[in-house]
Amino acid sequence: MIQLLSEDTIQKIAAGEVIERPASVIKELVENSIDANATEIIVEIKDGGKSLMKISDNGIGIKADEIEKAFLRHSTSKIVDFTDIYNITSLGFRGEALASVVSISKVKVNTKTEDSRLGMSVVYENNKLINKKPIAMNTGTSMEIRDIFYNVPVRKKFMKKTITEANIITNLMYRFAVGHSNIGFKYIKDDKVIFETHANSTLEESLMDLFGVEAKKDLYKIDINKRKFKIKGYISNNKYYRANRSMQYIYINGRYIEDVDIRRAIEDKYKSIIPNGRFPIYQLFLEMDPAYIDVNIHPNKKFVKITIIDDIIEALLAEIDFKLKNNIELPQIKEDVKNKSNILIKEDFNKKEYD
Ligand code: ADP
Ligand code: MG
Repeated sequence: MIQLLSEDTIQKIAAGEVIERPASVIKELVENSIDANATEIIVEIKDGGKSLMKISDNGIGIKADEIEKAFLRHSTSKIVDFTDIYNITSLGFRGEALASVVSISKVKVNTKTEDSRLGMSVVYENNKLINKKPIAMNTGTSMEIRDIFYNVPVRKKFMKKTITEANIITNLMYRFAVGHSNIGFKYIKDDKVIFETHANSTLEESLMDLFGVEAKKDLYKIDINKRKFKIKGYISNNKYYRANRSMQYIYINGRYIEDVDIRRAIEDKYKSIIPNGRFPIYQLFLEMDPAYIDVNIHPNKKFVKITIIDDIIEALLAEIDFKLKNNIELPQIKEDVKNKSNILIKEDFNKKEYD
């Protein structure tokens, strides 16, 4: 017998495509905060995000009378019609994230816009609004997500161990923080501040906040300007490496990506100068005309196809050769930094929680 699926079932199936695991919620909500022009974003998780994820920002907020609309499927303030998709600069535009999140978890949102005196607090459970009341707060938005997949037992079962889910979120948070040094990120895991960066920082300052001041003496500055592309950032020398790839970061036009061709080319170059089984560290920012990039080959856009990849690799390897040969040190950076979170991170990395 052919049956129509209930709206609730349709919603949960759709949510499954957007929200695979706790880290997907963090990714979607932090991207929303970035799109809302936040300069401060605080992310707090408990139990690998399974029991709690809280994302707070100082962005533009959501108008009181638009909150419920924001939680409907295909609701977005970022595009109006299909042609806009080709001009989009924001990170999300499918209008599915919030709708997906409320259908698979318990959600509380506090939000206030600049022009409104009070904020609004709304609570969703089982995909229904169960409470809405005004509250006093600063402009911005905070979203509290509890008990992910509590109403989708099959998905709940497929979550990984708490420590694994936590590590996936931690890696994601480092990617956001490295990639957006203009934004101050604070990341708290099980009541412990893992890192804190500061708004309006340079990349160098963010890297020191994240990885410690010692890191800078073993990083070479990369600065390539070609007609078709630019590459800026840092790459480690032969004294600074890791047992895994967790400190390899590539961004194209501001978006984190993974590119196997670039990674292999760099790792080949370092094979003879760092120990076996160790990996170079880099933070590379590529800028190019989007016409050279096809983002559609992977649904969550982590892998892209770059048509000028050979030119990019050639230029990058030449620059790395030059830096390694000439052993150019980083320019001096001011060292009035900053907080103790560096030390916490070092400990965390040493525990080899990352993969
Ligand atoms: P999308 O990001 O694809 O537009 P979402 O479901 O993620 O869809 O969000 C729906 C809408 O809710 C956004 O378009 C935006 O207008 C609003 N919104 C979501 N999160 C925030 C936030 N942190 N600050 C301000 N507005 C937000
Ligand atoms: Mg979004």
